[in-house]
Amino acid sequence: MKNVTIIGGGLAGLLTAIQLVRAQIPVTLFEKRHYPFHRVCGEYISNETLPFLKSLNLFPEHLQPSHINKFQLTSINGKAANLPLNLGGFGISRYALDHWLYQQALQDGVKVFHEEVTKIEYQENQFELSTSKSTISSDLIVGSFGKRSRLDINLGRSFIKKRSPYIGVKYHILTDHPPDLIALHNFKNGYCGISNIEDGKSNLCYLSHRDNLRNTGNIKTMEEEILYKNPFLKHIFQNSDFIFDEPETINEISFESKDPVEHHVLMCGDAAGMITPLCGNGMAIAIHSSKILSEQIIQFCSNPNFTRGELEDSYTKAWTSQFAARLRVGRQLQKLFGANVTSNLVVGMARSLKPLAHYLISKTHGRPF
Ligand SMILES: Cc1cc2nc3c(=O)[nH]c(=O)nc-3n(C[C@H](O)[C@H](O)[C@H](O)COP(=O)(O)OP(=O)(O)OC[C@H]3O[C@@H](n4cnc5c(N)ncnc54)[C@H](O)[C@@H]3O)c2cc1C
Repeated sequence: MKNVTIIGGGLAGLLTAIQLVRAQIPVTLFEKRHYPFHRVCGEYISNETLPFLKSLNLFPEHLQPSHINKFQLTSINGKAANLPLNLGGFGISRYALDHWLYQQALQDGVKVFHEEVTKIEYQENQFELSTSKSTISSDLIVGSFGKRSRLDINLGRSFIKKRSPYIGVKYHILTDHPPDLIALHNFKNGYCGISNIEDGKSNLCYLSHRDNLRNTGNIKTMEEEILYKNPFLKHIFQNSDFIFDEPETINEISFESKDPVEHHVLMCGDAAGMITPLCGNGMAIAIHSSKILSEQIIQFCSNPNFTRGELEDSYTKAWTSQFAARLRVGRQLQKLFGANVTSNLVVGMARSLKPLAHYLISKTHGRPF
């Protein structure tokens, strides 16, 4: 039986591992960090994932996620538009969700190593992977190492050569936020989401241009001088208890297009392409891409006539037809956020042209799968 090695244990990697091991394929997963841990993420998951998660018995009902079906959009100067969310979503921390999926993966028989993979080599139909502790060989490799990894440099991927100006900041807070609402508040050169997760907590997470930080010197001053210009954000920051001592932060968030297969590595989740966070859809794409990829790998492992080349072509086609247009629309929409005039325009449009707003939301989301 062919074996599969998965690099990266976020949603894409853990769910691919579980699906493959349940199909009797031996799976090894490398995750460089130790669960449970926090990640920069808005932690709102689109309901398009529900049928799939439930079919695998992996919807985390027992963790009591919040259920969200309303959307509020505000402009930099505090104009607001309110819309129902047709499909809606649920809110759950990655700290709780990824940890639970990791435990499920272990229970199902996935071998997990907490080591960073530093090198991948492909020769004569076999991969060789290196970590600081070991070298192993594998028939197939799934690259689910997220938006940016040292392996992207090792593989010479082109997106990594361009610098990206975006930083991400996340807090968990206790605040008076309606449990069924996700709000997206604009500020100069950025936007901030707030929605509830489990245990009555809220997630406050924003994407900002790094110039905001450069010009103000530190995160707190940036928030006071730039985010507070939006009265909604000022109110939230001044009337909430912040649970973390320090926010979770990341930089160099890139939305450049990537290839779903590179050097024979099958990319999944953000490693194959990242949608702009304002769409609230990256996790749904990570989950959906794990489904598409697992189905193809299962076919490859069970059918000796299905070649590696056919697997790579067929996955590339399936990934592109399902996600490429959504990522493009997300990049275009993001250009409308973060400037006074356009953010007012978008909020005005969302207020008066609700069908158009729903149309744009539908263009960045998939159908339930
Ligand atoms: C500011 C911000 C807000 C967002 N908000 C939302 C939201 O509200 N809703 C939504 O759906 N999406 C949101 N997203 C997107 C979402 O977080 C990602 O799309 C999702 O996490 C992708 O999952 P993944 O499994 O592909 O990658 P990740 O969850 O990033 O997992 C990758 C894993 O790989 C590991 N890894 C990396 N390199 C190696 C290596 N060499 N060896 C071993 N392990 C390695 C990492 O430690 C990590 O655990 C947001 C993103 C940002 C930046």
